[in-house]
Amino acid sequence: MTYICQHCEKDTESQAAHSITVYQEDGIEDHYEVLCSICYTEWLMSLKG
Ligand SMILES: [Zn+2]
Repeated sequence: MTYICQHCEKDTESQAAHSITVYQEDGIEDHYEVLCSICYTEWLMSLKG
């Protein structure tokens, strides 16, 4: 099974896909996204600033 990375829209193998939770500004869970490993790494970096 493959997922579509919601950032770069590449097909991503399930073992390489990361699901993340996107929060609203007030800290409430907004939605889930699936990212490939590259975009996931970039997302982690963006969290750290
Ligand atoms: Zn991606």
